[in-house]
Amino acid sequence: MEDPKVKLPITNEYGFYEIRLESIGGLGANLSGKILGELGAIYLGLNSSSFSSYGSEKRGTPVKAYIRWADPSREININSPVERPHLLGLFHERLAGKIPVMAGVGPETIVVVNTDASPDQMRDRLKMHAGTLICVDALKIAMEAKTRVNMVMLGAMAKASGFIPLEALKQIVEDTLGKKYPAALKGNLEGIEKGYENIQMKKFEDDGKYPYQEYKEVKREWGYDNAPIGGINPHFGSTISNDLSGSREGYIPVFKKEACINCGMCDSTCPDMVYQFVLGEYKGKTSMVNLGPDYHHCKGCLRCVEVCPTDALTAGIEREVDIWKIHVRNQELIVDKLEFEDVGPNSWMRSESIVTNKLH
Ligand code: SF4
Ligand code: SF4
Repeated sequence: MEDPKVKLPITNEYGFYEIRLESIGGLGANLSGKILGELGAIYLGLNSSSFSSYGSEKRGTPVKAYIRWADPSREININSPVERPHLLGLFHERLAGKIPVMAGVGPETIVVVNTDASPDQMRDRLKMHAGTLICVDALKIAMEAKTRVNMVMLGAMAKASGFIPLEALKQIVEDTLGKKYPAALKGNLEGIEKGYENIQMKKFEDDGKYPYQEYKEVKREWGYDNAPIGGINPHFGSTISNDLSGSREGYIPVFKKEACINCGMCDSTCPDMVYQFVLGEYKGKTSMVNLGPDYHHCKGCLRCVEVCPTDALTAGIEREVDIWKIHVRNQELIVDKLEFEDVGPNSWMRSESIVTNKLH
């Protein structure tokens, strides 16, 4: 048995150092969990296990990843969710409040959040009981370095941990992703380094401001014995009443109408039918005209930006663009009257509520 290359700074009563990643599909938390699992076993000389939990793997749906590390003398023989993490990665700040991402966070936990807010602001948003809070603007760094949010988060988590060596993290990314996607390696390594260097950290004591949140298994409202045939969508993606910001990746396509040549490339590429075309006039001729994106359906994958042949579409950071003022829900397409009753097995929505289109 080889000696481990790092010493775990803290473990629970079973001898495990535990990591939990909370994210939404598309930000790469599942892959990060696999990388951390392999990092522990192969590059740090520890015993290691990792697994993820996600639904359809569709962009925008909740994703969790769990990683356990232990000294080589200690076998990891459990495969249950991490309830009291030593290190918690929140890949999307808007997850807070929607799902209990802070469950099990105590004075010994280090929480790393993708946000442009300060640790003080973030503590209040997260209602964090106690522990060390680390903020990193992973979205912006990823955009600048031309990499994914997960690379920046991995760099920030390595720094936050105080014992994951930056070089080992870069090495595993080079050996794995670098072989598969060599063109992306430079950006990935830059993202890791910038995440490692650009953190804001603050420790919060238990001052009675927010109570400790116990970890609880989430009980689903629907299962095999009560879900209707054809399945259900418990959270409507298409109503003006839903704040869906936690289901997008944090990026948005910014539309410049005057540069649009109405080629339709964005519409045929978009997996969520976000673009709204109507019959209108373009260059003196009757043609289909692009009204722009209806952001309520947009997941922020930016595929449309990649295919747009002009600069009509550019990548933006959602929180920096006041999309409500521009066209979060294309104003001309807004419904006159929306009748629905919340969500749940007995919820309903009148079909007339969603057909009003003032342009027709
Ligand atoms: S791809 Fe670009 S130019 Fe073409 S319709 Fe879409 S926004 Fe307009
Ligand atoms: S980013 Fe573009 S392609 Fe992706 S969902 Fe939004 S509108 Fe569609």
